[in-house]
Amino acid sequence: MEYFDNIKKQAGKPVQINIKNRKITRDNFTCIAGPCTIENYEDLFKIATNLKKIGIEFFRGGTYKMRTSPYDFQGLKEQGLKYIYKVSNELEMISVSEVICAQDVNLMSQYVDILQVGTRNMYNYSLLRELGKISNPVILKRGMSSTIKEWLLAAEHIIEAGNPNVILCERGIRTFENYTRYTLDISAIQAVKNLSNLPVIVDPSHSSGRRDMIESLSLAAVAAGADGLLIETHFSPDETICDSKQTIDLEMLEKILSKTKNIVKVR
Ligand code: PEP
Ligand code: MN
Repeated sequence: MEYFDNIKKQAGKPVQINIKNRKITRDNFTCIAGPCTIENYEDLFKIATNLKKIGIEFFRGGTYKMRTSPYDFQGLKEQGLKYIYKVSNELEMISVSEVICAQDVNLMSQYVDILQVGTRNMYNYSLLRELGKISNPVILKRGMSSTIKEWLLAAEHIIEAGNPNVILCERGIRTFENYTRYTLDISAIQAVKNLSNLPVIVDPSHSSGRRDMIESLSLAAVAAGADGLLIETHFSPDETICDSKQTIDLEMLEKILSKTKNIVKVR
């Protein structure tokens, strides 16, 4: 077996990920937005309603959180899954939420449309293999210290285990720079587009950790070929309990999206 055999087999064929009646492909642009962490039902519903008003069909929100400190809020867990399910049904939107361990895959696949593997778990092969047993699309974030080859091999684990519906997400890597939280690796976008035929999205929120950089990084990512963006958004960013410094409001999101539409047209 070649090292990314399954991914290569798809080379030249457009990968189309179908979820409910939407498609995630390299031919249409996908925007996923929402809070870092779900805090309660009402706020999640309000955010998703506002996203829908500006034409966004995908909402995100963590309910099992991988926090660097054990003393920080760890998420609403199963209660949050119920909120996600209810909001996606009521508003007919697609939900995205992070799965943090193999034991949760089955349960989460029943409540959440798209499961996300966070940067800290890219090397968690038992989790990746478990994700190969379900059919929900999986957003695979790049490990913060992983090479492109390691990232694609992680995708290969999911695909080889039976689930071809993988979306790659560049979310910044660790460098010596600390003005930003991580360093967005713009060149990785084209690299994984060359080496695979999976959709590639970019997360400017976790890569920069800075609200004042979300717009420029989003535009740069789209100009560099990103098939979508994943952006932490809240109607009142400063009041959020997790990642508030990088969370943008809905007005800023709308402005970013209108600019990205123009970039998509000319690239
Ligand atoms: C997230 O998207 O909620 C998240 C924790 O991202 P990352 O794993 O990239 O840090
Ligand atoms: Mn976050």
